[in-house]
This record gives sequence, C-alpha cells and structure tokens, in this order.
Amino acid sequence: MICPASRADALAQLAEFVPKAPLYARDRNHVRPGHLGVSRLSPAIRHRLITEDEVATAVLGAHSFSKVEKFVQEVYWRRYWKSWLSLRPQVWENYQNDISLLKQDPHLQRIESLQSGNRIIDHFTRELIETGYLHNHARMWYAAWWIHAARLPWQAGADLFLRHLLDGDPASNTLSWRWVAGLQTPGKTYLARRSNLEKYLTSGLLESFDGHWQDFENPTPNMPADSVSHAVSCRELPHFPAKDGLKNGLWIHEEDLSPETSPLGNCAADAILVSADLEFPSLKRAWLEQAVQDTASRAALHWKRDVSTATSAPLADALLAWAVSHELQQIIALRPDVGPLADKLPEIFQVLGKHHIHLALIDRPRDAALRPLGTSGFFKFWETLQKKNFLPGHSRPIQAELF
Ligand SMILES: Cc1cc2nc3c(=O)[nH]c(=O)nc-3n(C[C@H](O)[C@H](O)[C@H](O)COP(=O)(O)OP(=O)(O)OC[C@H]3O[C@@H](n4cnc5c(N)ncnc54)[C@H](O)[C@@H]3O)c2cc1C
Repeated sequence: MICPASRADALAQLAEFVPKAPLYARDRNHVRPGHLGVSRLSPAIRHRLITEDEVATAVLGAHSFSKVEKFVQEVYWRRYWKSWLSLRPQVWENYQNDISLLKQDPHLQRIESLQSGNRIIDHFTRELIETGYLHNHARMWYAAWWIHAARLPWQAGADLFLRHLLDGDPASNTLSWRWVAGLQTPGKTYLARRSNLEKYLTSGLLESFDGHWQDFENPTPNMPADSVSHAVSCRELPHFPAKDGLKNGLWIHEEDLSPETSPLGNCAADAILVSADLEFPSLKRAWLEQAVQDTASRAALHWKRDVSTATSAPLADALLAWAVSHELQQIIALRPDVGPLADKLPEIFQVLGKHHIHLALIDRPRDAALRPLGTSGFFKFWETLQKKNFLPGHSRPIQAELF
C-alpha cells in the first residue's frame, strides 16, 4: 500500500520521510519505482488521518526552513486549493453539472480498460487503478494528454482520478485539472512534451515506451471554454453553533478522521458515529474501510465509549437512525469542505430537522483562519502565511471560538 490507512502508520511514514525532506526539492519531479523521493502521504492528509500542520511541524522541527521550504509549500497547496474553492463554490457546482451531462463515451471506457491506444497512458492508468496513486508529474502528463492530445473533456478525466485516487480530493483534483486545461490561470495551459518525460522518467520505463511518443512530440493547446465565474461568491460561511444542555452525538466523517486533534476532541459525547461513503472501486473502498475502523478505535479510546460506524445506508437516513436509537437532541460534526459530503448537508439538515435534532458544524480554528486567504494566487497565499506567522513553529497563536 502506497500510504497506510491508520493514523499511527501514517505518522510512522511521516517520521521515515522527515530525514529525506531536504532532498525533496531535488528529487520531487522524478518518477521512479516506489516514489521514494516524495512522501506518499497524500491519502492520509486528504482524509486527515494526519493534518497539514502535523506534517509541517515534524519537518520544520528537524530542519531549517530554507532546507525544507519547497516541501512545506507543497503541503499547503491543498489548503490553498480548499480555501480557493470554498470562496467560489460555483466552480464545484458547475463541474458537478458538467459531469452529470457527460454522455457514456465508449472511448472513456476504453481508457479505463487500458486500451487508450497509447502505451504510456495505459501504463499510468494501470498504476492508478492498481495502486490508487500517481506521482504528481505523471498526473500532469496524464491530464495534459487527456485534454490537449486526446481532446477529451477535462471533467471526465477529473472524475476518473477522483474515483481511483486514494487521495481523490474535490479541491486539489478539480482545480489541478482546470489548471492543466488552462482554465485556472486563464491562458496558461500545461503541455506534456516528450523531452520532459524523458528527463524525469526512470530509464527502464523509458525504453518500454520507445515508438509510442507520437502524442507527446509536438503538443498544441486545446483550451476548453470556461462558463463559470472565478469571482469570490462566498466570503462568510453560515454559522451552525452547538447549543448547551442537549444530549450530544459526535459525527466523525471521512473529511476529517483525526477528531481527537480538533475542537471535537473537547466535546462531551453521549454517542459517536464514524461514517464514510464507500461507493468507490475496491482498492479505495478497502482503504477507506480500514481508515474508518482505525478512527473508530481511536475515538473509542479517546471518549471511552462504544463507537458506531455507517458506511452503507444513505447517509441522512443512517444519521437519523443512529440519533433516534441514542435519543440524541444534537449532532456535532466538523464542517466538511466543498465536495460530495458538503453537497449532502441540505438533505441531512432537513431529515434531522423534521425530528427536531439539531446539527452543529464546527471548524478547526486553523482552517477558519486560512480560508479567507484563498482570494488570489498561491504565492500570495504562501507569502501571507509567512508574513502573518501562520506556519507551525511560529509564536503567534491562531485563536478562534470553538463554536
Ligand atoms: C491533474 C492532477 C490531479 C491531482 N489530483 C489530486 C487529488 O485528487 N488529491 C490530492 O491530494 N492531490 C492531487 N493532485 C496534487 C498532487 O499530485 C498530489 O497531492 C501529490 O502527487 C501527492 O503525492 P505525495 O503525497 O507523494 O506528495 P508530496 O510531493 O510528498 O507532497 C506532500 C504533500 O503536499 C500536498 N501536495 C503536493 N503537491 C500538491 C499539489 N500540486 N496540489 C495540492 N497538494 C499538493 C499533498 O498533501 C502531499 O501529500 C493532483 C495533481 C494533478 C496535476
């Protein structure tokens, strides 16, 4: 497994990576078997078995900032993408509408069945399906081939990635595909050239690709039309504070699987539920199932009580059944970022509301503090993190109310 599905093992993989972090800037672009030049921690960070801050703290605790800046910067790209999308949820909604309109194209099915007509692409599709991971550079080449050479809709490629990648992330994935298509930074497309693949691919693989370079020889951009505005449309998130004196259940979900390191950790619980959507190909389903079990065990230890899990029934119904069986008056959860789980919230509010069960959504203070910073480009965001001492290890505390 490229990245373990438990918090303890993810922390161990992080500890193994820490001594190598200063070499990251040199090695990170090379696509080599085993991917040892990069951390391979993204599934754990994506589902928050470990947090960005924990990763940055470990690396900055062992090395000077200048030696590991590149790595720490990459770690905060995810938070930047999440902030960017959270301020512009219309970009996600538009992508969801586009996906629902895409016809079942037999060409797309052939790609997923390793019959794209291009051996290089088939190689990476196999790796994606068999391991749930692709190196960042391979993701860029793949998306560039998809959009600019095969001239297929970027939304369908993003959907393929989101289904198979263990780290499939609504923000990082959607916005990276848009970036390759030239939609994210308007006018700037990413093209995959043979010379770039030859520079960064491991030599054994290169030889097996001989005679299959035609789509990477002279790529030309195919910039799709963009019908969605980039304007910030959601500066303030609605407040759903917890109420005092109610019988509480804690709902832990796949968007944040280390509740003990979040404000949820201080909440009293009369019942606890860990949920995840497992409607994914088998490898990803198994990974998520393991992560849910790991989280349930940690929650049982932390709160010293039994923990239920919900991975099959429609979520709103599962939450209601659990709440009713424990006679809960309030469910408290961490607020999910823009994505499929957040899309289910209106239905969940409605179903619970009918039974007078209050749903409270709380934020990690760090997320709430970084969210407004995603208004322009990443480097402005990165500069602000440093200027405001928002990186771990700096003295300025970030305070926000728990509820
Ligand atoms: C087309 C395309 C689709 C992508 N889809 C996803 C996705 O669904 N989920 C996802 O997590 N990443 C996605 N990425 C970003 C990036 O490829 C992965 O985060 C990275 O390859 C994960 O491997 P790693 O953990 O070994 O990363 P490392 O190189 O070790 O980086 C450390 C951590 O920094 C973060 N990170 C690194 N690069 C990026 C980046 N470019 N954007 C955002 N965060 C980054 C990740 O949390 C990663 O674990 C995509 C990139 C492209 C080009």
